[in-house]
Amino acid sequence: MRLVTPRGVTEWALTLGQHTWYSVPQTEVMPWWRAHEDCHKQQFARDGWLRFCARYLWEYLAGRRAGLTHAQAYLNISYEREAQAAADACYAWLHRNLGRALPTMAQGSGLEH
Ligand SMILES: [Zn+2]
Repeated sequence: MRLVTPRGVTEWALTLGQHTWYSVPQTEVMPWWRAHEDCHKQQFARDGWLRFCARYLWEYLAGRRAGLTHAQAYLNISYEREAQAAADACYAWLHRNLGRALPTMAQGSGLEH
């Protein structure tokens, strides 16, 4: 399970299994944000609920034990890094094909970086 809380904490998403709830209307979900959450759906399907949740929590707590802040520990979870890579790849593809008309990832992306 995951909450994506960008700077303003006004936008978030929660993906559990094959369902994602967004805090904004579907029309406002940027494609790279959707790519991030869709990656989590694939992770749930690939690894199963138990393994996903256990590993997610274990990696977060390991990061905190190592002295990372909440945000650092969250971003360091392997599932989050994989989902962010999917979002980055989506953004890069769109930028190549749509050019500079594309808003930056920080503008309405819902992602933490
Ligand atoms: Zn995520």
